[in-house]
Amino acid sequence: MWRDKPAVYSGKVWDGKAAPLRTYGRFEREVRLAFKALMEVMLAGDHWGKPFNFPKPEISLEPDFMKEDEEFNQAHPDLPTYQDLYLLTFKLAAEYGTPYFDNQLPAYRGAGNGISCYQCCAYQFAATFDSDDQFMEKLYFKDGKHFSMGSWQVVSLNCPRAAYLARGDDDLLFEYLRGLMDISVEIFKVKREWMNRVVESRRMPFATQCPRDPATNERGSQAVDLESLVYTIGVVGVNEMVQFHTGHAMHESKEAWKLAVRAMTEMELYAKKLSETHDMTIALARTPAETTAQRFAVSDLIHEEFRDCAEKVVKGDLAAAKKNLQRTRDLPIYYTNGTHLPPGADVPIFERAKLEHVFFPIVDGGNIFHVFLGEASPDPKGLMDFGMRLARTTQIGYFTFTKDMTVCLSCYKVSSGLKEECPSCGSPDVEHISRITGYLQAVSGWNNAKRQELKDRKRYDDLI
Ligand SMILES: [Zn+2]
Repeated sequence: MWRDKPAVYSGKVWDGKAAPLRTYGRFEREVRLAFKALMEVMLAGDHWGKPFNFPKPEISLEPDFMKEDEEFNQAHPDLPTYQDLYLLTFKLAAEYGTPYFDNQLPAYRGAGNGISCYQCCAYQFAATFDSDDQFMEKLYFKDGKHFSMGSWQVVSLNCPRAAYLARGDDDLLFEYLRGLMDISVEIFKVKREWMNRVVESRRMPFATQCPRDPATNERGSQAVDLESLVYTIGVVGVNEMVQFHTGHAMHESKEAWKLAVRAMTEMELYAKKLSETHDMTIALARTPAETTAQRFAVSDLIHEEFRDCAEKVVKGDLAAAKKNLQRTRDLPIYYTNGTHLPPGADVPIFERAKLEHVFFPIVDGGNIFHVFLGEASPDPKGLMDFGMRLARTTQIGYFTFTKDMTVCLSCYKVSSGLKEECPSCGSPDVEHISRITGYLQAVSGWNNAKRQELKDRKRYDDLI
């Protein structure tokens, strides 16, 4: 999409008016070399050979790059091809699991005709020519216009609790879910009122500044278009909700899975209705829930009314949780994130993809598909074939491969898997690294529920 668009650099839009016409396509050589250099630096790691966990490399799988530009490649045999570059990203994924793959191929992602971004813990914002009437103006930075994407606030719903209250009645279940969404809107209104006061009293100077056009020195539009920000309602524990309601987890029965799809569809429709009624854009998403997945499970377990229900479906080590209940709230139990299958569900990887991909187009973002790899280092080419197949044949919009790693704090060698001592020097002074929800992080900073989830995860050595 960008190839024939005027480039923006040196304070100018090179559109043939403010400056001579120069399109992004003219920088093909520089882009390919810069991409290759970035991947090589990330593959080498830091001074100690440890992987970089920030910034996150977001690898866009674009329709434009699925086919080689043969003419260009022949004229520039010294440059890496698209395939060479993608292979480097999968090599990085096989080595450290660092990259995030942003699949632009499905129609709902714009199929290369829009712009979209995934942020932090996988919120997705997208705009296309059809969905945004100022799309071209924003693309060309006309009068300082540009894409502002983000969310005012995220409110997470404890979905299992709706099932506990509904006691098996479908209509009641949906009614309780809608009720939770109504409460979310009230929270959004309070937040907005508060933020309006913050803006009015000029206590948000960075976001509200109007940068000057470097050519004319005139002020353009506000840096962050506050009116275009959305309000996000996130779901947690959809699996436990249907498990309590039907008696089966999402991967155990078609009925349970269908109920999850229906609930999400109903909620998405209701989010649209709420958006119209309250004149605010409400997005339905998965919540990262790094702490909330635990917090909801624990609060249901300590709640007199919901304890018996929660005990039936919470994931993790319930016996250990009950033993320590009087001592701490940091307990090794959790609800499954978003619309995922439980981390420990013993199903083949493509079966997991088949059950989870359906939810991607329903929600407005915030979804991610995790492939937890085993200790064996996969062949990068094999991993690329798998990733490309996933991108082409499913609706999964965002996915990552997670490798657990042990970093020795004595000799700094990095090895695969979670080991109690360094396989190189035998030192017990080691740090474990894995992906929590969005980022690769040191496991030592995780709460007990996330550590338990790490133990429970089904890992895949065979990606078939
Ligand atoms: Zn060592």
